[in-house]
Amino acid sequence: MANPFQSQFDKQKVRSLELRTEPIEHRRKRLKSLKTWILNNKGKIREALHADLRKSATDTDISEIFTVTTEINDALSHLHQWARPQRVSPGMTYLGTAGKIQPEPKGVCLIIAPWNFPFNLIGSPLASCLAAGNTAMLKPSENTPATSKLIKEMVEDVFEPEVVTVIEGAIPETTALLELPFDHIFFTGSTNVGKIVMGAAAKNLSSVTLELGGKSPVIIDETANADDAAKKIVWGRFTNNGQTCIAPDYIFISEKVKDKFVASAKKYVAELFDSKSEGLSHTQDYSRLVNVKHASRLVEILDEAKNSGAHIEFGGTHNANEKFIEPTLLSNIDESNRIWQEEIFGPIMPMKIYRDIDQVIDHINQNDKPLALYLFSRSRKTKKRITKATSAGSMVINDVVVQYAHPNLPFGGVNHSGIGKSHGKYGFMEFSNQKSVLSQRIGLTNALLFYPPFNGFKKWVVNFMIKWF
Ligand code: NAD
Repeated sequence: MANPFQSQFDKQKVRSLELRTEPIEHRRKRLKSLKTWILNNKGKIREALHADLRKSATDTDISEIFTVTTEINDALSHLHQWARPQRVSPGMTYLGTAGKIQPEPKGVCLIIAPWNFPFNLIGSPLASCLAAGNTAMLKPSENTPATSKLIKEMVEDVFEPEVVTVIEGAIPETTALLELPFDHIFFTGSTNVGKIVMGAAAKNLSSVTLELGGKSPVIIDETANADDAAKKIVWGRFTNNGQTCIAPDYIFISEKVKDKFVASAKKYVAELFDSKSEGLSHTQDYSRLVNVKHASRLVEILDEAKNSGAHIEFGGTHNANEKFIEPTLLSNIDESNRIWQEEIFGPIMPMKIYRDIDQVIDHINQNDKPLALYLFSRSRKTKKRITKATSAGSMVINDVVVQYAHPNLPFGGVNHSGIGKSHGKYGFMEFSNQKSVLSQRIGLTNALLFYPPFNGFKKWVVNFMIKWF
Protein backbone atom coordinates (compact mmCIF):
# COMPACT_ATOMS: atom_id res chain seq x y z
CA MET A 1 0.00 0.00 0.00
CA ALA A 2 1.26 3.48 -0.87
CA ASN A 3 2.44 5.58 2.04
CA PRO A 4 -0.33 8.15 2.86
CA PHE A 5 2.28 10.88 3.41
CA GLN A 6 4.45 10.16 0.35
CA SER A 7 3.15 13.02 -1.79
CA GLN A 8 3.56 15.58 1.03
CA PHE A 9 7.08 14.27 1.57
CA ASP A 10 7.89 14.46 -2.17
CA LYS A 11 6.74 18.08 -2.36
CA GLN A 12 8.91 18.99 0.62
CA LYS A 13 11.85 17.16 -0.94
CA VAL A 14 11.67 19.35 -4.05
CA ARG A 15 11.30 22.50 -1.95
CA SER A 16 14.16 21.51 0.36
CA LEU A 17 16.56 21.55 -2.61
CA GLU A 18 15.47 25.12 -3.40
CA LEU A 19 15.95 26.16 0.25
CA ARG A 20 19.61 25.12 0.06
CA THR A 21 20.54 28.08 -2.09
CA GLU A 22 18.22 30.80 -0.84
CA PRO A 23 19.55 33.78 1.15
CA ILE A 24 19.70 33.45 4.96
CA GLU A 25 17.27 36.36 5.14
CA HIS A 26 14.46 34.04 3.96
CA ARG A 27 15.03 31.77 6.96
CA ARG A 28 14.89 34.82 9.24
CA LYS A 29 11.60 35.88 7.60
CA ARG A 30 10.05 32.49 8.38
CA LEU A 31 11.21 32.68 11.98
CA LYS A 32 9.81 36.19 12.33
CA SER A 33 6.43 35.10 10.91
CA LEU A 34 6.30 32.22 13.37
CA LYS A 35 7.10 34.55 16.26
CA THR A 36 4.47 37.09 15.16
CA TRP A 37 1.80 34.40 15.01
CA ILE A 38 2.70 33.19 18.50
CA LEU A 39 2.65 36.71 19.96
CA ASN A 40 -0.69 37.48 18.29
CA ASN A 41 -2.27 34.23 19.48
CA LYS A 42 -1.12 33.92 23.09
CA GLY A 43 -4.75 33.69 24.24
CA LYS A 44 -5.45 30.69 21.99
CA ILE A 45 -2.27 28.94 23.14
CA ARG A 46 -3.24 29.46 26.80
CA GLU A 47 -6.75 28.11 26.13
CA ALA A 48 -5.40 24.99 24.40
CA LEU A 49 -2.95 24.22 27.22
CA HIS A 50 -5.66 24.74 29.80
CA ALA A 51 -7.95 22.35 27.94
CA ASP A 52 -5.26 19.68 27.63
CA LEU A 53 -3.34 19.94 30.93
CA ARG A 54 -5.23 22.54 32.96
CA LYS A 55 -2.11 24.68 32.86
CA SER A 56 -2.43 28.17 34.31
CA ALA A 57 -1.99 31.09 31.87
CA THR A 58 1.28 32.22 33.46
CA ASP A 59 2.65 28.68 33.49
CA THR A 60 1.86 28.45 29.76
CA ASP A 61 3.52 31.82 29.15
CA ILE A 62 6.70 30.60 30.87
CA SER A 63 6.99 26.97 29.83
CA GLU A 64 5.32 26.91 26.42
CA ILE A 65 5.49 30.41 24.90
CA PHE A 66 8.68 31.97 26.30
CA THR A 67 10.66 28.78 25.65
CA VAL A 68 9.77 28.99 21.94
CA THR A 69 10.11 32.76 21.48
CA THR A 70 13.50 32.74 23.19
CA GLU A 71 14.67 29.97 20.81
CA ILE A 72 13.44 32.04 17.84
CA ASN A 73 15.05 35.25 19.17
CA ASP A 74 18.35 33.46 19.72
CA ALA A 75 18.30 32.20 16.12
CA LEU A 76 17.33 35.65 14.78
CA SER A 77 20.28 37.23 16.62
CA HIS A 78 22.91 34.65 15.77
CA LEU A 79 21.86 32.97 12.53
CA HIS A 80 24.32 34.83 10.30
CA GLN A 81 27.15 33.83 12.62
CA TRP A 82 26.02 30.17 12.95
CA ALA A 83 25.51 29.73 9.20
CA ARG A 84 28.78 31.39 8.18
CA PRO A 85 31.46 29.06 6.79
CA GLN A 86 34.22 28.58 9.32
CA ARG A 87 37.80 28.64 8.03
CA VAL A 88 40.20 26.04 9.45
CA SER A 89 44.00 25.99 9.60
CA PRO A 90 45.70 23.85 6.91
CA GLY A 91 48.36 22.61 9.32
CA MET A 92 51.79 21.71 7.92
CA THR A 93 50.54 19.00 5.59
CA TYR A 94 47.93 21.09 3.74
CA LEU A 95 49.83 24.36 3.36
CA GLY A 96 48.62 26.18 0.25
CA THR A 97 45.04 24.83 0.41
CA ALA A 98 41.95 26.50 1.86
CA GLY A 99 39.67 24.50 4.15
CA LYS A 100 36.35 25.54 5.62
CA ILE A 101 33.36 24.00 7.40
CA GLN A 102 30.15 24.92 5.62
CA PRO A 103 26.96 24.18 7.59
CA GLU A 104 24.32 23.05 5.08
CA PRO A 105 20.64 22.24 5.63
CA LYS A 106 19.96 18.53 6.07
CA GLY A 107 16.78 18.64 3.95
CA VAL A 108 13.37 17.25 4.90
CA CYS A 109 13.01 16.77 8.67
CA LEU A 110 10.46 15.01 10.83
CA ILE A 111 9.74 16.40 14.30
CA ILE A 112 7.77 14.12 16.65
CA ALA A 113 6.63 15.56 19.99
CA PRO A 114 5.25 14.25 23.30
CA TRP A 115 2.33 15.66 25.27
CA ASN A 116 3.98 17.05 28.39
CA PHE A 117 5.06 20.43 26.90
CA PRO A 118 3.12 20.00 23.68
CA PHE A 119 3.54 23.49 22.21
CA ASN A 120 7.13 24.05 23.30
CA LEU A 121 8.37 20.66 22.12
CA ILE A 122 7.11 21.27 18.60
CA GLY A 123 7.93 25.00 18.50
CA SER A 124 11.51 24.92 19.82
CA PRO A 125 12.88 22.22 17.48
CA LEU A 126 10.91 23.81 14.62
CA ALA A 127 12.79 27.09 15.24
CA SER A 128 16.16 25.27 15.03
CA CYS A 129 15.00 23.31 11.98
CA LEU A 130 13.93 26.45 10.08
CA ALA A 131 17.03 28.37 11.18
CA ALA A 132 19.13 25.63 9.62
CA GLY A 133 17.21 25.98 6.32
CA ASN A 134 15.16 22.77 6.30
CA THR A 135 11.58 21.85 5.60
CA ALA A 136 9.62 20.08 8.34
CA MET A 137 6.81 17.61 8.83
CA LEU A 138 5.47 17.89 12.38
CA LYS A 139 3.76 15.15 14.39
CA PRO A 140 2.31 16.54 17.65
CA SER A 141 1.01 14.25 20.38
CA GLU A 142 -2.45 12.70 20.12
CA ASN A 143 -2.76 13.00 23.92
CA THR A 144 -3.04 16.80 23.81
CA PRO A 145 -5.65 17.25 21.06
CA ALA A 146 -6.44 20.93 21.65
CA THR A 147 -2.77 21.95 21.32
CA SER A 148 -2.27 19.61 18.40
CA LYS A 149 -5.20 21.24 16.53
CA LEU A 150 -3.84 24.70 17.31
CA ILE A 151 -0.37 23.78 16.03
CA LYS A 152 -1.99 22.69 12.76
CA GLU A 153 -3.86 25.99 12.54
CA MET A 154 -0.65 27.93 13.23
CA VAL A 155 1.34 26.08 10.59
CA GLU A 156 -1.40 26.49 7.97
CA ASP A 157 -1.57 30.23 8.72
CA VAL A 158 2.18 30.82 8.60
CA PHE A 159 3.80 28.39 6.14
CA GLU A 160 3.29 26.91 2.70
CA PRO A 161 2.80 23.13 3.06
CA GLU A 162 5.93 22.48 0.99
CA VAL A 163 7.93 24.06 3.84
CA VAL A 164 6.09 23.02 7.01
CA THR A 165 3.15 20.71 7.43
CA VAL A 166 1.41 19.01 10.37
CA ILE A 167 0.31 15.39 10.51
CA GLU A 168 -2.07 14.73 13.37
CA GLY A 169 -2.44 11.19 14.63
CA ALA A 170 -1.11 8.46 16.90
CA ILE A 171 0.94 5.27 16.42
CA PRO A 172 -0.31 4.29 12.92
CA GLU A 173 0.38 7.75 11.48
CA THR A 174 3.80 7.98 13.16
CA THR A 175 4.70 4.49 11.96
CA ALA A 176 3.82 5.47 8.37
CA LEU A 177 5.82 8.69 8.64
CA LEU A 178 8.83 6.77 9.96
CA GLU A 179 8.92 4.67 6.77
CA LEU A 180 9.83 7.76 4.72
CA PRO A 181 13.49 8.58 4.00
CA PHE A 182 13.77 11.76 6.08
CA ASP A 183 17.11 13.55 6.13
CA HIS A 184 16.75 14.02 9.89
CA ILE A 185 14.33 12.87 12.58
CA PHE A 186 14.02 14.86 15.80
CA PHE A 187 12.10 12.83 18.35
CA THR A 188 11.11 13.84 21.88
CA GLY A 189 9.43 11.18 23.98
CA SER A 190 9.95 8.02 25.97
CA THR A 191 13.04 5.82 25.80
CA ASN A 192 11.04 2.82 24.55
CA VAL A 193 9.52 4.70 21.63
CA GLY A 194 12.94 6.29 21.01
CA LYS A 195 14.24 2.79 20.26
CA ILE A 196 11.42 2.25 17.73
CA VAL A 197 12.22 5.58 16.08
CA MET A 198 15.92 4.79 15.85
CA GLY A 199 15.17 1.33 14.44
CA ALA A 200 12.96 2.84 11.73
CA ALA A 201 15.51 5.58 10.98
CA ALA A 202 18.22 2.94 10.53
CA LYS A 203 16.37 1.52 7.49
CA ASN A 204 16.88 4.83 5.66
CA LEU A 205 20.04 5.83 7.53
CA SER A 206 18.26 9.02 8.56
CA SER A 207 20.18 10.88 11.25
CA VAL A 208 18.36 11.22 14.56
CA THR A 209 18.12 13.43 17.58
CA LEU A 210 16.47 11.57 20.43
CA GLU A 211 15.36 13.64 23.41
CA LEU A 212 14.26 10.89 25.80
CA GLY A 213 13.33 10.39 29.42
CA GLY A 214 14.39 8.28 32.36
CA LYS A 215 15.03 8.65 36.05
CA SER A 216 16.90 11.83 37.04
CA PRO A 217 18.39 11.58 40.54
CA VAL A 218 18.90 14.28 43.16
CA ILE A 219 21.58 14.02 45.81
CA ILE A 220 21.28 16.12 48.96
CA ASP A 221 24.41 15.78 51.07
CA GLU A 222 25.03 16.65 54.72
CA THR A 223 26.47 20.09 53.84
CA ALA A 224 23.42 21.16 51.77
CA ASN A 225 21.04 23.92 52.74
CA ALA A 226 17.97 21.70 53.16
CA ASP A 227 15.44 24.53 53.04
CA ASP A 228 16.86 25.91 49.78
CA ALA A 229 16.96 22.40 48.28
CA ALA A 230 13.35 21.74 49.36
CA LYS A 231 11.97 24.90 47.73
CA LYS A 232 13.74 24.25 44.43
CA ILE A 233 12.91 20.54 44.31
CA VAL A 234 9.25 21.09 45.19
CA TRP A 235 8.97 23.58 42.33
CA GLY A 236 10.90 21.40 39.84
CA ARG A 237 9.10 18.20 40.75
CA PHE A 238 5.49 19.32 41.13
CA THR A 239 5.25 21.97 38.39
CA ASN A 240 3.29 20.52 35.44
CA ASN A 241 2.28 17.79 37.90
CA GLY A 242 5.68 16.14 37.71
CA GLN A 243 5.28 15.59 33.95
CA THR A 244 8.63 17.17 33.08
CA CYS A 245 11.41 15.13 31.49
CA ILE A 246 14.14 16.77 33.59
CA ALA A 247 12.13 16.84 36.83
CA PRO A 248 13.98 15.26 39.74
CA ASP A 249 12.69 11.65 39.83
CA TYR A 250 14.10 10.39 43.13
CA ILE A 251 16.18 11.67 46.03
CA PHE A 252 19.25 10.36 47.82
CA ILE A 253 19.53 12.30 51.07
CA SER A 254 21.91 12.41 54.03
CA GLU A 255 20.21 11.53 57.32
CA LYS A 256 21.60 14.74 58.86
CA VAL A 257 19.40 17.01 56.72
CA LYS A 258 16.40 14.73 56.09
CA ASP A 259 14.02 16.05 58.76
CA LYS A 260 14.65 19.67 57.86
CA PHE A 261 14.19 18.85 54.15
CA VAL A 262 10.85 17.08 54.70
CA ALA A 263 9.44 19.88 56.89
CA SER A 264 10.51 22.54 54.38
CA ALA A 265 9.23 20.59 51.37
CA LYS A 266 5.81 20.24 53.00
CA LYS A 267 5.73 23.97 53.71
CA TYR A 268 6.71 24.86 50.12
CA VAL A 269 4.08 22.61 48.54
CA ALA A 270 1.45 24.75 50.29
CA GLU A 271 3.26 28.04 49.61
CA LEU A 272 3.88 27.42 45.92
CA PHE A 273 0.82 25.47 44.80
CA ASP A 274 -1.91 26.37 47.29
CA SER A 275 -1.07 29.90 48.37
CA LYS A 276 -4.76 30.85 48.83
CA SER A 277 -5.47 27.69 50.91
CA GLU A 278 -8.21 26.55 48.50
CA GLY A 279 -7.01 22.95 48.68
CA LEU A 280 -4.68 21.34 46.14
CA SER A 281 -7.58 19.66 44.36
CA HIS A 282 -9.20 23.05 43.68
CA THR A 283 -6.41 25.55 43.15
CA GLN A 284 -5.65 26.72 39.61
CA ASP A 285 -1.92 26.79 40.43
CA TYR A 286 -1.61 23.01 40.47
CA SER A 287 -2.07 21.44 37.03
CA ARG A 288 -3.42 17.98 36.21
CA LEU A 289 -2.14 14.66 34.91
CA VAL A 290 -2.66 14.30 31.19
CA ASN A 291 -5.28 11.52 31.26
CA VAL A 292 -7.00 8.93 33.46
CA LYS A 293 -4.77 6.13 32.11
CA HIS A 294 -1.62 7.90 33.22
CA ALA A 295 -3.20 8.84 36.59
CA SER A 296 -4.25 5.19 37.17
CA ARG A 297 -0.71 3.95 36.42
CA LEU A 298 0.64 6.35 39.05
CA VAL A 299 -1.98 5.34 41.62
CA GLU A 300 -0.95 1.68 41.08
CA ILE A 301 2.71 2.60 41.67
CA LEU A 302 1.78 4.54 44.79
CA ASP A 303 -0.40 1.70 46.14
CA GLU A 304 2.32 -0.88 45.53
CA ALA A 305 4.81 1.25 47.51
CA LYS A 306 2.32 1.81 50.37
CA ASN A 307 1.37 -1.89 50.52
CA SER A 308 4.99 -2.92 50.81
CA GLY A 309 5.59 -0.62 53.77
CA ALA A 310 6.60 2.74 52.30
CA HIS A 311 6.23 5.72 54.62
CA ILE A 312 4.25 8.71 53.33
CA GLU A 313 6.14 11.83 54.44
CA PHE A 314 3.35 14.02 53.02
CA GLY A 315 0.59 13.86 50.39
CA GLY A 316 -0.79 10.56 49.14
CA THR A 317 -4.42 11.43 48.38
CA HIS A 318 -5.64 10.94 44.82
CA ASN A 319 -8.59 10.79 42.47
CA ALA A 320 -7.57 9.13 39.21
CA ASN A 321 -10.85 9.98 37.48
CA GLU A 322 -10.14 13.64 38.15
CA LYS A 323 -6.50 13.11 37.03
CA PHE A 324 -5.45 14.36 40.47
CA ILE A 325 -2.68 13.12 42.76
CA GLU A 326 -1.51 15.26 45.66
CA PRO A 327 2.21 16.17 45.73
CA THR A 328 3.61 13.13 47.53
CA LEU A 329 6.95 12.35 49.18
CA LEU A 330 7.69 8.73 50.12
CA SER A 331 10.49 7.13 52.10
CA ASN A 332 11.43 3.63 53.24
CA ILE A 333 10.41 2.02 49.94
CA ASP A 334 11.20 -1.57 49.09
CA GLU A 335 14.00 -1.88 46.50
CA SER A 336 11.90 -4.14 44.27
CA ASN A 337 9.06 -1.61 43.83
CA ARG A 338 8.14 -0.30 40.38
CA ILE A 339 8.81 3.20 41.66
CA TRP A 340 12.56 2.45 41.50
CA GLN A 341 12.39 0.90 38.02
CA GLU A 342 10.15 3.19 35.92
CA GLU A 343 10.33 6.89 35.14
CA ILE A 344 7.62 8.19 37.49
CA PHE A 345 6.51 11.23 35.45
CA GLY A 346 4.00 12.43 38.02
CA PRO A 347 3.79 14.16 41.41
CA ILE A 348 5.18 11.29 43.50
CA MET A 349 8.76 11.37 44.71
CA PRO A 350 10.66 8.57 46.45
CA MET A 351 13.44 9.42 48.87
CA LYS A 352 16.20 7.22 50.21
CA ILE A 353 18.65 7.90 53.03
CA TYR A 354 22.28 7.21 52.17
CA ARG A 355 25.30 6.89 54.43
CA ASP A 356 28.15 6.65 51.96
CA ILE A 357 28.38 8.78 48.81
CA ASP A 358 30.15 5.90 47.02
CA GLN A 359 26.92 3.88 47.21
CA VAL A 360 25.09 6.73 45.51
CA ILE A 361 27.70 6.92 42.76
CA ASP A 362 27.52 3.12 42.27
CA HIS A 363 23.73 3.23 42.05
CA ILE A 364 23.80 5.96 39.39
CA ASN A 365 26.53 4.21 37.40
CA GLN A 366 24.79 0.84 37.48
CA ASN A 367 21.60 2.28 35.99
CA ASP A 368 20.86 3.97 32.64
CA LYS A 369 22.64 7.30 32.28
CA PRO A 370 20.14 9.94 33.43
CA LEU A 371 18.91 12.92 31.46
CA ALA A 372 19.73 15.17 34.41
CA LEU A 373 21.61 14.81 37.68
CA TYR A 374 21.12 17.25 40.54
CA LEU A 375 23.41 17.78 43.50
CA PHE A 376 22.72 19.96 46.54
CA SER A 377 25.95 20.49 48.43
CA ARG A 378 28.35 23.09 49.73
CA SER A 379 31.32 20.73 49.55
CA ARG A 380 33.77 21.47 46.72
CA LYS A 381 35.14 17.95 47.04
CA THR A 382 31.70 16.33 46.60
CA LYS A 383 30.80 18.59 43.68
CA LYS A 384 34.02 17.65 41.90
CA ARG A 385 33.67 13.97 42.73
CA ILE A 386 30.08 13.62 41.50
CA THR A 387 30.76 15.67 38.37
CA LYS A 388 33.66 13.43 37.38
CA ALA A 389 32.50 10.01 38.59
CA THR A 390 29.03 9.98 37.02
CA SER A 391 27.56 10.50 33.54
CA ALA A 392 24.36 12.40 32.71
CA GLY A 393 22.93 14.55 29.90
CA SER A 394 23.21 17.57 32.16
CA MET A 395 24.19 18.25 35.75
CA VAL A 396 23.05 21.09 37.98
CA ILE A 397 24.57 21.95 41.34
CA ASN A 398 22.24 23.54 43.90
CA ASP A 399 19.22 23.86 41.60
CA VAL A 400 16.93 21.79 39.38
CA VAL A 401 15.39 22.11 35.90
CA VAL A 402 16.84 25.60 35.22
CA GLN A 403 19.49 24.23 32.83
CA TYR A 404 16.75 23.84 30.21
CA ALA A 405 16.55 27.51 29.32
CA HIS A 406 20.25 28.40 29.52
CA PRO A 407 21.09 30.28 26.30
CA ASN A 408 24.54 28.77 25.80
CA LEU A 409 24.38 25.23 27.18
CA PRO A 410 23.51 22.24 24.99
CA PHE A 411 20.42 20.32 26.10
CA GLY A 412 20.02 16.56 25.71
CA GLY A 413 20.62 13.14 27.14
CA VAL A 414 23.21 10.42 26.82
CA ASN A 415 22.49 6.87 25.56
CA HIS A 416 19.21 5.77 27.19
CA SER A 417 18.26 9.37 28.00
CA GLY A 418 18.98 10.61 24.49
CA ILE A 419 21.25 11.09 21.52
CA GLY A 420 22.24 14.48 20.16
CA LYS A 421 21.77 17.97 21.56
CA SER A 422 19.35 20.82 21.09
CA HIS A 423 18.83 24.52 21.85
CA GLY A 424 20.47 27.56 20.33
CA LYS A 425 23.59 26.90 18.30
CA TYR A 426 23.48 23.19 19.25
CA GLY A 427 19.94 22.89 17.83
CA PHE A 428 21.06 24.62 14.64
CA MET A 429 24.03 22.21 14.33
CA GLU A 430 21.78 19.19 14.90
CA PHE A 431 19.66 20.16 11.89
CA SER A 432 22.74 21.00 9.75
CA ASN A 433 25.36 18.89 8.06
CA GLN A 434 28.85 20.20 8.81
CA LYS A 435 30.23 19.88 5.31
CA SER A 436 34.01 20.15 4.85
CA VAL A 437 35.02 22.10 1.76
CA LEU A 438 38.67 21.89 0.72
CA SER A 439 40.03 24.04 -2.16
CA GLN A 440 43.19 22.83 -3.89
CA ARG A 441 45.44 24.66 -6.38
CA ILE A 442 45.36 23.64 -10.05
CA GLY A 443 48.39 21.57 -11.04
CA LEU A 444 49.49 21.04 -7.43
CA THR A 445 48.46 18.58 -4.78
CA ASN A 446 49.73 17.78 -1.30
CA ALA A 447 49.25 14.12 -2.14
CA LEU A 448 52.02 14.23 -4.81
CA LEU A 449 54.49 12.67 -2.40
CA PHE A 450 52.19 9.69 -2.01
CA TYR A 451 51.83 8.99 -5.74
CA PRO A 452 53.77 5.91 -6.85
CA PRO A 453 56.47 5.04 -7.82
CA PHE A 454 57.98 5.21 -4.31
CA ASN A 455 61.66 6.16 -4.48
CA GLY A 456 64.06 6.46 -1.58
CA PHE A 457 63.31 10.17 -1.03
CA LYS A 458 59.55 9.54 -0.75
CA LYS A 459 60.14 6.71 1.71
CA TRP A 460 62.32 9.05 3.79
CA VAL A 461 59.57 11.72 3.77
CA VAL A 462 56.90 9.20 4.83
CA ASN A 463 59.07 8.00 7.73
CA PHE A 464 59.81 11.61 8.72
CA MET A 465 56.05 12.35 8.75
CA ILE A 466 55.23 9.25 10.80
CA LYS A 467 57.80 10.39 13.37
CA TRP A 468 57.06 14.11 13.54
CA PHE A 469 53.59 15.01 12.15
P1 NAD B 1 5.82 8.73 23.89
O1 NAD B 1 7.16 8.19 23.57
O2 NAD B 1 4.75 7.79 24.29
O3 NAD B 1 5.24 9.54 22.63
C1 NAD B 1 5.98 10.50 21.93
C2 NAD B 1 5.51 10.57 20.48
O4 NAD B 1 5.73 9.30 19.87
C3 NAD B 1 4.03 10.90 20.32
O5 NAD B 1 3.89 11.84 19.29
C4 NAD B 1 3.40 9.57 19.95
O6 NAD B 1 2.32 9.70 19.05
C5 NAD B 1 4.53 8.81 19.27
N1 NAD B 1 4.48 7.36 19.54
C6 NAD B 1 4.05 6.75 20.67
N2 NAD B 1 4.18 5.40 20.56
C7 NAD B 1 4.69 5.16 19.33
C8 NAD B 1 5.03 3.98 18.61
N3 NAD B 1 4.87 2.77 19.14
N4 NAD B 1 5.52 4.10 17.35
C9 NAD B 1 5.70 5.33 16.80
N5 NAD B 1 5.36 6.48 17.44
C10 NAD B 1 4.87 6.41 18.68
O7 NAD B 1 6.08 9.85 25.00
P2 NAD B 1 5.01 10.70 25.79
O8 NAD B 1 4.30 9.79 26.74
O9 NAD B 1 4.21 11.53 24.85
O10 NAD B 1 5.97 11.70 26.60
C11 NAD B 1 6.55 11.39 27.81
C12 NAD B 1 8.00 10.95 27.65
O11 NAD B 1 8.73 11.92 26.92
C13 NAD B 1 8.71 10.80 28.99
O12 NAD B 1 9.51 9.66 28.96
C14 NAD B 1 9.58 12.06 29.05
O13 NAD B 1 10.71 11.95 29.88
C15 NAD B 1 9.94 12.24 27.63
N6 NAD B 1 10.32 13.63 27.34
C16 NAD B 1 11.61 13.92 27.06
C17 NAD B 1 11.98 15.24 26.86
C18 NAD B 1 13.41 15.62 26.56
O14 NAD B 1 13.63 16.76 26.16
N7 NAD B 1 14.37 14.75 26.74
C19 NAD B 1 11.02 16.25 26.90
C20 NAD B 1 9.71 15.89 27.18
C21 NAD B 1 9.36 14.57 27.40
